[in-house]
Amino acid sequence: MALPFSGTLLFCPNGLREDETKLHKLKIREDALFLACSKFNPATTESGDLFWVPWRVVHSVAADSDRPIFLGLAPDGSPRFAIDIGDSLEAWSNFTPNGFQNIRSIAAHLADNRTAIVAQAHSILKWIAHHHFCSRCGSNNAVCLGGYRLDCTNPACGALTFPRIDPVVIIMVTSRDNEKCLLGRSHDYPDKIISPLAGFMEPGESIEDTINREIREEVGLTCTDIRFWGNQPWPFPSNLMLGCFATVEKDQLTINEDELVFADWFTRKQLEEIFRNPSGDRIFPQSISIAHHMMKAWLKDV
Ligand SMILES: [Zn+2]
Repeated sequence: MALPFSGTLLFCPNGLREDETKLHKLKIREDALFLACSKFNPATTESGDLFWVPWRVVHSVAADSDRPIFLGLAPDGSPRFAIDIGDSLEAWSNFTPNGFQNIRSIAAHLADNRTAIVAQAHSILKWIAHHHFCSRCGSNNAVCLGGYRLDCTNPACGALTFPRIDPVVIIMVTSRDNEKCLLGRSHDYPDKIISPLAGFMEPGESIEDTINREIREEVGLTCTDIRFWGNQPWPFPSNLMLGCFATVEKDQLTINEDELVFADWFTRKQLEEIFRNPSGDRIFPQSISIAHHMMKAWLKDV
């Protein structure tokens, strides 16, 4: 199953990003299409689809400094790019009649592989916008490889920077008899939201190490039988969610209140009730999230 923000149909042939001349020729092709983004959110049509514009529009309205990033070739062969419009919202307003939509709402509406394009554009454009300067010497960075590498412009330095992805493990912990699962709420979750526990991976950790550390830190339990379930890019700004199931031998929780507001065991019947009542005291993350799909999978005992 392709989760939201994954399953892209765009493809970049080997070596194409490295060839500036070929990228330029692709950019000015009649069938090339561009996704304008404001604050990393894409332009949309009235019906909520992605709103693509041709090069002549980009050329007429974009500043010279606005360099599109290359997303890849669509199945019909058309080159696809994304461009950050920066502060040029007014200049673009005539060409983006429905404005720019938050990617969470777009993803919920599109709910297919187009969300992968949204995630790709959002993550790369944001990464470029936040890395104007070399982290080693402070000189300006130049955008290379169609947006997938930043090269320090100081010849004495020459540092190359690549897009960063932060892996996060999300764990559906179940009791030994598989009759209940562990859900909780971190301090940074929106009110009422409960979800499987999650945490950033740290350097030097395997997925299993992260799971064991997080579950021990947050509820004082030891995991056994860790199984990988699925994964999802999460472009806020650039995470990779690694969904796993794990079993615990004991179920006595020792909740770390520095980490969690709340945690408890839930039966399938309780999960079904929460799914049925989205205006209740406890609600689950939206269907764009892997957390939502992991809980649905457990309900079906998959
Ligand atoms: Zn440098």
